[in-house]
Amino acid sequence: MQQAMSMTSGMGIAYQGTPHAQNMQSFLAAMQGQPHMLNPSTNYYQRLNGHIPAQNAVVQHQTSNYTSANLPQTSSSVTGTQEAIPDRPIGYGAFGVVWSVTDPRNGKRVALKKMPNVFQSLVSSKRVFRELKMLCFFKHENVLSALDVLQPPHVDYFQEIYVITELMQSDLHKIIVSPQHLSSDHIKVFLYQILRGLKYLHSARVLHRDIKPGNLLVNSNCVLKICDFGLARVEEPDPNVAMTQEVVTQYYRAPEILMGAKHYTAAVDVWSVGCIFGELLGRRILFQAQTPIQQLELITDLLGTPNPEDMLTACDAARKHMARSPHKMNSLTSLYSLSAQATHEAVHLLCQMLVFNPSRRISVTDALSHPYLDEGRLRYHSCMCKCCKSQGTNPNITARRFTPDFEPVAPVPFQDSWEQDLTSTRQVREKLHQFILEQLSNSEVPLVINPQSAAYKSFASSTVAHSSELPPSPHNWE
Ligand SMILES: [Zn+2]
Repeated sequence: MQQAMSMTSGMGIAYQGTPHAQNMQSFLAAMQGQPHMLNPSTNYYQRLNGHIPAQNAVVQHQTSNYTSANLPQTSSSVTGTQEAIPDRPIGYGAFGVVWSVTDPRNGKRVALKKMPNVFQSLVSSKRVFRELKMLCFFKHENVLSALDVLQPPHVDYFQEIYVITELMQSDLHKIIVSPQHLSSDHIKVFLYQILRGLKYLHSARVLHRDIKPGNLLVNSNCVLKICDFGLARVEEPDPNVAMTQEVVTQYYRAPEILMGAKHYTAAVDVWSVGCIFGELLGRRILFQAQTPIQQLELITDLLGTPNPEDMLTACDAARKHMARSPHKMNSLTSLYSLSAQATHEAVHLLCQMLVFNPSRRISVTDALSHPYLDEGRLRYHSCMCKCCKSQGTNPNITARRFTPDFEPVAPVPFQDSWEQDLTSTRQVREKLHQFILEQLSNSEVPLVINPQSAAYKSFASSTVAHSSELPPSPHNWE
């Protein structure tokens, strides 16, 4: 396969997209048959064993208006074709459950995310509102976005939100732990897409804060999309404003967060990408520690003891801990032994992402101009993207018209000023309800949940991940 996927043409030269796309497809197709070897707690799109036979689909058209909690009981608009395909759970994250369902309007398989118990507290309801607004705001090939939102009941009965997104077959965690060979070309095109999506998010002033392989969904063409914005928030421009530390799965947590920084930047996401890059090369988690202190130990084992000026954002107790610890030299040359794919170019870029000091860590935009990513960019825009177009009638000599902007930014930043005006759950409920109805007015026939579906009962009773499955809390330095 590696030979078949070798890169032969340069940018601007006619490129035969199809064979390459097929290679990527067969790679993922082979993945589908793999038994899952995952820790459910770490994976967003966990495939569950056993299908739940559906008598009819979980979602259906809106067939009548209603103003009470009783959802429509008819399912006449659901056709036999849609009934034949079982609806089933495909995973869950910290703040929601995801099912694979059929959109009855077009027969397409899509992902339906249920955000339950939205209005338990002001904090949780604002977080859900922010996540939904982000999903509706994002318009980028490498960022998961909302295709639709299900019509809510009357505001008095409004408890749960159902969002429809594109259905993705796998994620980077599943791919990394599978026995499937990962070529240099795979690594390059995956890393390129992670950075391309992240450049867009950062340009919208959004910090993802939980970039990990399980949050990087991959479809059968190897197109990658960043998902799960449950922990995402807008960048805080004022360094004196404290930010929450309940972020980022520990293995991918940046050293400044481990050291109790009260304020942090988009560089935390770049650190996570560096960890994932190392994991793609070595096929194992780069810094796999049991506790936040041990996590810091593993990082300094590789990078060496940081200088005092590299720990300016750290809290006093963390700085003292570092000063007491034995001095370490860096061992960055060990990165060359991650795998044969850890070439000089790869390690050069990796070392710029894994920089202790966040202000010296490479930005996403600068990382994208590193020569290591040139081939990933070429592959992506030659046969995977939607922004470049193939031209000509001869299928053997397909000219490609490339987009003028390979890595577009968001046209405007994501706004979060609306959050400040929300002071009660009642108020959030009303605003959120209104927001969903505004989204619906732009879309086609509204979809509602079909409570008569056999699968609905399981879906309705499915809950969010247990607290024990959430990432460990940061170390208490005080
Ligand atoms: Zn393109």
